[in-house]
Amino acid sequence: MEDVDVAILGGGIAGLTLAKWLAEEGVDFVLLEEHQRFFHKACGEGFYEQMGEHSFTHLYESNRGIERRLEETAVSTPHGILTVRLPVLMTDKRAVEEELARQVRARGGIIRTGEKVEALERQGRATILWPQGIRSRVVVGADGARSLVRRHLGLPPLHLGIAAATRCPSVDLPDRMLHVEFKRSVIPCGYAWYFPKKECWNVGIGTYAPRYFKPCLASFKKRFSDNLSWAVDSLPIGRPQPAVHHTSLLVGDAAGQVFAATGSGNLPAMICATLAARTLSRAARHGFRTPDFSDYERAWRATLGKPFARSHRLRQLTRTAQISEHLFHLLLKTGIKMS
Ligand SMILES: Cc1cc2nc3c(=O)[nH]c(=O)nc-3n(C[C@H](O)[C@H](O)[C@H](O)COP(=O)(O)OP(=O)(O)OC[C@H]3O[C@@H](n4cnc5c(N)ncnc54)[C@H](O)[C@@H]3O)c2cc1C
Repeated sequence: MEDVDVAILGGGIAGLTLAKWLAEEGVDFVLLEEHQRFFHKACGEGFYEQMGEHSFTHLYESNRGIERRLEETAVSTPHGILTVRLPVLMTDKRAVEEELARQVRARGGIIRTGEKVEALERQGRATILWPQGIRSRVVVGADGARSLVRRHLGLPPLHLGIAAATRCPSVDLPDRMLHVEFKRSVIPCGYAWYFPKKECWNVGIGTYAPRYFKPCLASFKKRFSDNLSWAVDSLPIGRPQPAVHHTSLLVGDAAGQVFAATGSGNLPAMICATLAARTLSRAARHGFRTPDFSDYERAWRATLGKPFARSHRLRQLTRTAQISEHLFHLLLKTGIKMS
């Protein structure tokens, strides 16, 4: 049996960011990622540049994979186009995850790819990961929206929406901004996006009402050529959930740490992983003797609790679009003016 202090399940943006800071602090950990290559899921590949005191550039420490910086998003409804000013970095997300993995390894951290954790078993104060046979004092679920760690802890499943994305060579829209489309005729209870990358566009469609997804995706796809490959995935769209459970922590999608209105979870995952790393590094300095990880819970709530709650209220507002798209447009306009 192999012993470690911390086992991280999942080498997405959350797990890799956490691993990087733990490696820097010399914490004994292993990260297990089920796929051989990083970045398998559907994603719009956009990162908010800044949230409060946390900036993507500061957390990422590299330019690799950053393709464009866009300052505006055009939001279209059947009643007009509104403009939101919020800097977003468009990336090649696989390159970003590969770069984070390089940074982890350069700091001496251990990442094992192609290793899916199939089961977790509590043994005294430790947890055993199977089939690896790794015994860990602390387990971190950075394993996405359908987290095995959540299930192992007996936590309720997250409220999930569904979305699909593809890369498309060109779109007939100005490429100096991001575009999102809130139209019931395109997809109810959700939106379509068109994000310009360096040499192509990331295009997608998502909804928090899964019953609409299949037919709307089928008709949305008709706007594009047949040979595009679409990736479909779930994303949390409820309120974030408690992230500390005795000696298990949840980070990123596994904890529902996503802005519910937009489905944006990339920078939030990096921020929450950074806060989790601070807590774990402190505990490691005391040999994990009396593990109390509640300061991670307090820290992410203090940093992102209010913006998460606002975004959740905004998502509930999109229900209004079901009743009146005109009212929705007016509410959106007021919201944009106030922000
Ligand atoms: C279609 C779509 C578009 C999106 N667009 C954007 C966007 O443009 N901007 C934005 O900010 N957010 C976006 N999001 C949300 C964003 O992708 C997620 O919030 C973010 O990826 C969360 O990162 P994570 O590391 O928590 O989870 P994930 O990226 O899901 O990573 C989890 C990792 O865990 C691994 N894993 C799972 N189970 C196991 C196991 N048992 N053993 C080992 N490994 C395991 C998986 O292989 C995966 O690599 C989008 C989501 C979707 C679905």
